[in-house]
Amino acid sequence: MLAVLCASAVAQKPARSCSNCAVWNQAQKPFRIFGNTYYVGPHGLSSILITSPAGDVLIDGGIPASAKLIAANIRSLGFRVKDIKIILNSHVHFDHAGGLAVLQHMSGARVMASPWSAAVLRKGGVARDDPQYGILQPLVPVKNVHELRDGETLRLGGISITAHFTPGHTPGGTSWTWQSCESSVCRDIVFADSLAPISADGFKFSSSRDYPHALDDFEKSFRFLETTQCDILITTHPEASNLWDRLAAREKGATPDPMLNPLACKDLAKSARERLSQRLAEEHGSATEK
Ligand SMILES: [Zn+2]
Repeated sequence: MLAVLCASAVAQKPARSCSNCAVWNQAQKPFRIFGNTYYVGPHGLSSILITSPAGDVLIDGGIPASAKLIAANIRSLGFRVKDIKIILNSHVHFDHAGGLAVLQHMSGARVMASPWSAAVLRKGGVARDDPQYGILQPLVPVKNVHELRDGETLRLGGISITAHFTPGHTPGGTSWTWQSCESSVCRDIVFADSLAPISADGFKFSSSRDYPHALDDFEKSFRFLETTQCDILITTHPEASNLWDRLAAREKGATPDPMLNPLACKDLAKSARERLSQRLAEEHGSATEK
């Protein structure tokens, strides 16, 4: 079953409260996922470091309080925060982008994002067409945000990472794909953005004046997950792709490596489709009471 995909899954609370933040931000020992790809986030919010001799890429920064922990994890692996040259983001909610301003300040890296996300990052706050407008903690503004095109590939050292716009959860959501290698074995890695249809009260994904193309956006994102090469899936909330179960199995010596699952992206798409269908049924008043 798909676990909670986003902070705001529990967000039927006033903005600025974050009852989950302490749990999300629990310390987590960093570890190598595969090749030059490492998990450096706290236990409940993924943050990924991809390294190269020419500099490193960081994806997502957790909540504001995660930045210090992420930096400590990077150092404990033997890398330098100053070597981060590019910071990327899944979506601009406070639980994935809240630490970006501090991490940018610490590293001097360039932050790169979809045009919609870049606008929110520069301005801070929460966008009016975000389904969770009104129930989210606002973002601290981020400086010098560079806009990316859908499908654009960024190159740094031996890293080649591609942006795939996967909107729906927010209009600017972005997933990322790259390859990491160990000797002659290379794996396709997917960092998939949240695809949970979560909103403020009163918002309807089926008929929103503020976000009228939400359903088309979700469909585009589902198709991406169904068709992308996917040996190793990482999600914004690690438990949504069973990361801790996979890590525990790996540490017990399971073979093949439990991090690998070529069906993981398709399975995530299936779960996300089901969740959206259930949400639309609720919006149309035909949901069965449990
Ligand atoms: Zn979110």
